[in-house]
Amino acid sequence: TKTETPQSSGGDVRLHGISKTYGSFTAVQPLDLTVPAGSFFALLGASGCGKTTTLRMIAGLEEPTTGTVELSGRDVTALPPYKRQVNTVFQNYALFPHLDIYENVAFGLRRRGIKSVKKQVEEMLDLVQLGPMARRKPQQLSGGQQQRVAVARALINHPQVLLLDEPLGALDLKLRRQMQLELKRIQTEVGITFVHVTHDQEEAMTMADTVAVMNGGRVEQLGAPADLYENPGTTFVANFLGTSNLIEAEVVEAGGEELLLRAADTTLHLPAARCSASARKGEKVLAGVRPEKVALTHADDADGIAAEHNRLPGRIKDASFIGVSTQYVVEVPGLGELAVYEQNIERDGRLVPGAGIVLHWSRAHTFGLDATQD
Ligand code: ATP
Repeated sequence: TKTETPQSSGGDVRLHGISKTYGSFTAVQPLDLTVPAGSFFALLGASGCGKTTTLRMIAGLEEPTTGTVELSGRDVTALPPYKRQVNTVFQNYALFPHLDIYENVAFGLRRRGIKSVKKQVEEMLDLVQLGPMARRKPQQLSGGQQQRVAVARALINHPQVLLLDEPLGALDLKLRRQMQLELKRIQTEVGITFVHVTHDQEEAMTMADTVAVMNGGRVEQLGAPADLYENPGTTFVANFLGTSNLIEAEVVEAGGEELLLRAADTTLHLPAARCSASARKGEKVLAGVRPEKVALTHADDADGIAAEHNRLPGRIKDASFIGVSTQYVVEVPGLGELAVYEQNIERDGRLVPGAGIVLHWSRAHTFGLDATQD
């Protein structure tokens, strides 16, 4: 007997010039941000970048210094948390230890004076797949199960927006990965807008439709996970989302669809559309490429490398076999060390430390960044 999933409609969130200062310290710089209705949105950044403060301003737990918060077209800046159609799930679950799971989930309904809660509570317990545990106390559940109760409890009043503040932070890595998929499934099923705060780039990329990368109280870049990864606009984003090779280069030819760069003694090609720097002739840029986009060919076989590939000569410094791939550190004269991740398909036995090799990758996988930013 499968009950129907409780459907709610998600609301959109619009932040207009919202900021927060504590004394002379600016935690969040004036920020404009739109979270589309029904989306899974992640605020991603290192500790102290202002993501929790931003979330708390949406919740109404923190009063903005400037700016307004709009929920589904309504200015809620002056409303207390309980008058906003939002609910928050915190890292520490905050379940009532003396109530069983059923009553924890029913709490929001009972507080509103609703008597017949059975159907809704059962639907919610089904949604988070905890029906059989309804009569247990929170301390009889695992961390992941407790977090699912916290989600069910937060969803029972059908908020338009669910805010999640590092909800998986207390879980070990394996459970964390499971819960990421679980939360994603729940969000897709209920259709409520989720705004999720995390410092874990893999978590944000796995779960969210849109990720806002925050740094120093500002949104540094916003986009779909794959887009941010493939087209980072700043060195901060390039380095925060995975490993990147950033090669110092000078623009020797500009104006066409492709920029020509000089890096040490080598010419590199960069699609102009993938360069976020101004990149006039004579200017410095950083040419970036992700380690898994780069291939290694033994120097003796360099003639076979595709003509449209960027290439750099180097020497293998280190090779670590990690199962799915081998991770190489390659020393490139004049440019330092670059990382290469190669899948272990037909490994070339000559690719060992000390070997002379050529690194190469499709020009299309090259991105260009401003070399003057910090
Ligand atoms: P974390 O992941 O560590 O929680 P965060 O990105 O969520 O980091 P915030 O909690 O938003 O960061 O804090 C942003 C900055 O504002 C931090 O430097 C923090 O010390 C500061 N801050 C937060 N709350 C206050 C407060 N009540 N008074 C003074 N400074 C504060």
